[in-house]
Amino acid sequence: MRHEILKNVNRIVVKLGTGVITDSSKQPDPAQLEQLVAQIAARQQAGQEIVLVTSGAVGAGMGALGLNKRPAELADLQACAAVGQSRLMAIYENLFARFHLISAQVLLTHEDLEDHDRHLNARNALVTLLRKRVVPIINENDAVSCTELKFGDNDRLSALVASLLPADLLVILTTVDGMIRNFGCSNPEIIPLVEHVDATLEAMAGGTKSSTAVGGMATKIQAAKIAIRSGIPLVIASGRKKNVLARIVKGEVEGTLFLPNPNRLRGRKRWIAFFHHPAGALFVDDGAKRALREKGKSLLPPGIARCEGSFQGGDVVRLCDLDGMEFARGICDFSSQQIASRQLPRIEVVHRDNLVVL
Ligand code: GLU
Repeated sequence: MRHEILKNVNRIVVKLGTGVITDSSKQPDPAQLEQLVAQIAARQQAGQEIVLVTSGAVGAGMGALGLNKRPAELADLQACAAVGQSRLMAIYENLFARFHLISAQVLLTHEDLEDHDRHLNARNALVTLLRKRVVPIINENDAVSCTELKFGDNDRLSALVASLLPADLLVILTTVDGMIRNFGCSNPEIIPLVEHVDATLEAMAGGTKSSTAVGGMATKIQAAKIAIRSGIPLVIASGRKKNVLARIVKGEVEGTLFLPNPNRLRGRKRWIAFFHHPAGALFVDDGAKRALREKGKSLLPPGIARCEGSFQGGDVVRLCDLDGMEFARGICDFSSQQIASRQLPRIEVVHRDNLVVL
C-alpha cells in the first residue's frame, strides 16, 4: 500500500525541525546535520528533486547570543533568527558542497505567498532552482515577519511549500517516531497510517514543551490537513534514524503516513484555501451551507445571515455556518460595507469558481 502511494514520487519537500538538527546545548549538531544532508544528497543523486524546509535559526541564534530560554519579545526573536539563520546556512552550504551540490537560501514571509502574483513568482523561483539541480533551503524570514502575520511554524510552512510547488511527497522529520497513540502512557504505539484527520486524532496531538521548538504534534496535524487536501502524502518520522528518507521513499513502514485526498485541489483553489489570513467572515444559514457544500452552488445574498470584519471586494473571506464553524473559503466579490448595507444585486457574492469547501 505504501509502496503503491509512493512509487512515483519525484519532488520531495523535507522539513527538519529544530530538535533534529540541534544538540542538547541548542547548537546546530554537526554530526546530525551531516547525516541528514547525506540522505538528502542521496535522494538528489537518485534523480529526485528535494526542497528543504529548515528550522533552527532561532535556536542557533540563542546559542550564539548565550540565551538558554526562547525569548518572549518579538524583537529579541527576530534578532536571534537573524544571527542564527546565517550560521545555519553556512553549515548547510559547506555540507552540501561535500556532496558537490549547490544549495540556495530562500526566506519567505506570509505576504510572499498570499498575493497571487508573488505566489506564482515564488513558485517559479523554486522550480527554476530545482531545474538547475540546486537544493532550495527554505525558512520563514523571521528577522522581519511580525507575529500576527507569520506562518507561525515550519510544519505549516513546509505544507504550504509542498502545496505551492506542488510536491509529490512531504516528509516532516522530527524527534519522535511518528504520530503516537497513548503518548506518555505505559503502552505508546506508533500509528502507521492515517486515512482521515478527524477530531479524535486532533485531540490526541499535543503541543511542545521544548525551549527552542515551536510546534509539537498539533501543528503537524494542521500541516497534514493542508498536504492531504492538496493531494500530497505526508510522512512524519524520526530525523535521528539512519537512512530514514530512503526507507520512506522505498515504501517501507516508517513513521506515520497520511494518505492524500484523491480529489487534489487545483493550484488556484489551493491558493484560496491555504494561503490567506482572511480579514472577514460571512455567516450563512443552513440552506446556503447545504447549497455550497453538497450542491456545488455559488453563495447568493439571501443566504448570508451576517458579515464580520472589514474587507474589500476581491478579498478571500471565511464562510462559516451559524455556529461559527468555518466550512469553506472564497473570494468575495463585494466589500464588507456593501454586504452590510444589504443593497446587493441578486447575483453571486462568492462565485463557485472562487470557492473551496474545506
Ligand atoms: N523559523 C523558526 C526557526 O528557524 C522555526 C519555526 C519552527 O520550528 O516551527 O527557528
